[in-house]
Amino acid sequence: MARKFDEYSKWIKNNQHTFTEISDKIWGFAELGFNEYKSSELLAKTLKENGFNVDMGVASMPTAFVASYGNGKPTIAVLGEYDALPGLNQAAEPLRKVLNDGEPGHGCGHNLLGTAGIGGVLAIKKAIDAGEVKGTIRYYGCPAEENFNAKGYMISPGGVFEDIDIAITWHPAFINAISAQSNNALSSVFFKFYGTTAHAAADPYNGRSALDVVELMNVGANYMREHMISDARIHYIITNGGLAPNIVPAEAEVHYFVRAPERFQVDELYNRLTKVAEGAVLMTETRLEIDFIGGTYNPIRNDVVNNVIYDKMRQLGPPRFNQDEQEFARELKKTVPPLNITEIKKIVPPDMLDVAVKSLSEPLFPIISPPFGKGTVEAGSTDVADVSWYTPLGEFGTACHIVGSPGHSWQNVATSGMSIGHKGMIKAAQIICLTSLEFMSNPELVEKAREEFNNTFKDKSYKSPFPEGHQPPFHRFKNK
Ligand SMILES: [Zn+2]
Repeated sequence: MARKFDEYSKWIKNNQHTFTEISDKIWGFAELGFNEYKSSELLAKTLKENGFNVDMGVASMPTAFVASYGNGKPTIAVLGEYDALPGLNQAAEPLRKVLNDGEPGHGCGHNLLGTAGIGGVLAIKKAIDAGEVKGTIRYYGCPAEENFNAKGYMISPGGVFEDIDIAITWHPAFINAISAQSNNALSSVFFKFYGTTAHAAADPYNGRSALDVVELMNVGANYMREHMISDARIHYIITNGGLAPNIVPAEAEVHYFVRAPERFQVDELYNRLTKVAEGAVLMTETRLEIDFIGGTYNPIRNDVVNNVIYDKMRQLGPPRFNQDEQEFARELKKTVPPLNITEIKKIVPPDMLDVAVKSLSEPLFPIISPPFGKGTVEAGSTDVADVSWYTPLGEFGTACHIVGSPGHSWQNVATSGMSIGHKGMIKAAQIICLTSLEFMSNPELVEKAREEFNNTFKDKSYKSPFPEGHQPPFHRFKNK
């Protein structure tokens, strides 16, 4: 007997060329966050042509959209991203080969991320049309994940996620696994300082260097490190340090990320950091402007949703790679450092350790690992987190990259633009499809996910990480 909804996951496989073509085009566009005009247009057009109702430019962001099909409950949200990373341009080859120097590349595989959701929702539409399930399926075109945490703008207040019952997302990975981990919450802030210029040799006493404030602020921030929770992270770059040594800089700027396991911890550290900046201003008789440009929560993923995803992953099996792909991966693996066993132990349950170590020594991950890392925090951040505070959300990864490949790397650009990435993406589309259909055909399961959500969040409430009246920071967009 055919397994439940098998024909819809097969439909995705049979039409995979359509999706790999879309993915490869977005890989080629490689547009940075807030500049994903061609990518969002292509995805939205595909959905529109297939009868979806498309609302383009939601939440005041031209490259954000929501595409909807069907009606009534439940409403399932499939999240898609399609922004690239600066400077990572790379050919789909197993050695460092730049095609266009300095141009962006899909080092996080968001070309695959955005396209898998399209495959998933188009197959779900087929099931709705056939009368096999009831409800609404939505694709959320979420821009600027990498640089501006744009999902926060789509959420509040009165945002486009209001009436969602279940949200499903995924991310290209080097393992096939469900993420039960949390991530650090984040704030991203520019501190801009204004001093007084002067000739650095002739009349420096008339000047007040804006670069001095940046340096004093950084010293203060570095002294803070001893007196903050050890899991927090503060990192910065100087984005403007002046024009020439013989000109006392009238303007200077530093860009900070503050991360910690919980949102309130980020807010506390950020407030202290602001005092450090103000103290440095006082020392130097300069002026400060704060430009807050992004923030996320810590994600809390829903076990009910994750368990349904896991069930579907096992039903579908891992992506299978052929000899050529194994060879490609073996070559590419020579360019990355070996995996650290201590790190593996942190994320894999003890009874899985043997199989994990064996799998992780392969060039391409060969199995499906159960939900891992519950109660632990992964140091990076994601704006998927903010959606998880709004609705029950599940997330998984499929093997699209070589084992041990670092995040945001040219190695990931390479595999995201060829059949290894394609296979992981098609598998992800099938998992999204079967998971959504399970919820659409089983109202009790939706109820259970909601119960868990209500329980998890009974003492928590979501308050936007952005300051009052904050708008998407288009002024910070740079094309390179
Ligand atoms: Zn990513």
